[in-house]
Amino acid sequence: MTAVFATQSPVRVRPPKRLKEEQWEGYRNPPWLKKDKKKVTILYNFVERRKSYFMRAYFERHGFRYRDLGDHVKEDVRWGKEYGNRMECNPMYFTSGSLIRNLFKLHREEGFSKKEVVENFVFVGGGGQCGPCRYGMYPQEYFKVVNDAGFKDFRLFLFSSDMNDPLPKDSAFAFNLLFRINFVFAFVLADFMHIAECALRPYAKDKKRALAAIAEAEEILLKAFRSRLFLITLPLALRKAGRMFAALPRRDRKLPFIYMTGEIFANLAHNDGNYNLRRFIMDEDCEVAPGLFTNRALYEFWRRGAEAKRRIEYASSRREERFWKKSLRKQRLSSWIVLHAYRWLCRFLKPASFGGKAGLHDLDELAMIGYEYYHPEIFGGEGNLEVAEALHYADTVDGFISSKPFGCMPSSGVSDGVQAKIMSLKPQLNFLSIETSGDNEVSILSRVSMLLFKAKQKVRLAIDGSSDSSS
Ligand code: SF4
Repeated sequence: MTAVFATQSPVRVRPPKRLKEEQWEGYRNPPWLKKDKKKVTILYNFVERRKSYFMRAYFERHGFRYRDLGDHVKEDVRWGKEYGNRMECNPMYFTSGSLIRNLFKLHREEGFSKKEVVENFVFVGGGGQCGPCRYGMYPQEYFKVVNDAGFKDFRLFLFSSDMNDPLPKDSAFAFNLLFRINFVFAFVLADFMHIAECALRPYAKDKKRALAAIAEAEEILLKAFRSRLFLITLPLALRKAGRMFAALPRRDRKLPFIYMTGEIFANLAHNDGNYNLRRFIMDEDCEVAPGLFTNRALYEFWRRGAEAKRRIEYASSRREERFWKKSLRKQRLSSWIVLHAYRWLCRFLKPASFGGKAGLHDLDELAMIGYEYYHPEIFGGEGNLEVAEALHYADTVDGFISSKPFGCMPSSGVSDGVQAKIMSLKPQLNFLSIETSGDNEVSILSRVSMLLFKAKQKVRLAIDGSSDSSS
């Protein structure tokens, strides 16, 4: 071989005619400084309407101008696909699309030029790096869509991502401890209202009145949370809300109980992002287990803690060991704060008094239950949770829905892969795996209807030995 090369004439490589002087450095995320705090409005949303709604209290108390972007809507998928990369997952399209839709609204309907939108607004939202899935691409994808849509250098603050690190000392906004504590209270309150809806919507004698009571309770809680003394006012407001719910007349009847799980957005969006599935199930005369963000937050700390323990075990230096020990302490503290805030506030609401199901996961137990089929240290998406939940609830629920977003890597392995094995072990489980893509609602809801039909037959059979659900 050497001889062959030696006899060939050397290849002449011509230098390129134009040399690019500067390397591509990625998108810019200019700082937002304190001196401009009053000039700039925060646009924000977090997973679904109620969480954003309660976060108003924080922004108001801390003197921010803000606009709550509220729920994601079907149209967001189209916006996300138009400006986003191909083959992203459904939540990526929904969340980035929602941002773009709202920026264009400012530009086209309110008359701001694109430059003015960039100067006068920033976005605060979720979408950090959560694991080896597309979630890790969120920050870059957000940058891409805003820049490609012409909002060059639009400023973004994404929770649990490192895109804002390091922040300048005089930054107008930061995900600091105060923000985090307020965020915990906001999502716990949102979870409580969701628990109330899951308990009252299918059972209340007057559904309209029940929903009006929940809307009124939301206002009462927001007012209490706005106060600087919210640690005193919130418990009182929750007690009042709990009493309002308990006073609503309920129908005494046995409804099929459906458990729904899946990737965070497909499971917990409670809006067009997951076809509003829980409300659909309830309006079809079934009860559904609430989908609690608190559970998801606790899982996040649990999985980070599990990772830290493993890293401590295999640390190659004292420095590395110290780093992971610190991380473990942080996860434990975060978990403690969330758990205690939830339990403390729960005592005032008293969900059991109106039929609310407010129990939280025992994550250690779930890790053990599903251990053989999905290792609890495989992270990404919901990790081991979905498999463990299917095993755990197989004998106690009338229907089990696994909701997976289109294009989701971790969920595909679980919903379409491991769950097949679980079904062979638990054939009694009335299981349905669905894929939320944002645009095939009729087909998905008809599949869910079939699962509900089977669930009703099951309950009917248990009550009077007949499986005729039409009677
Ligand atoms: S878990 Fe799935 S849907 Fe969620 S961000 Fe990752 S890839 Fe997307």
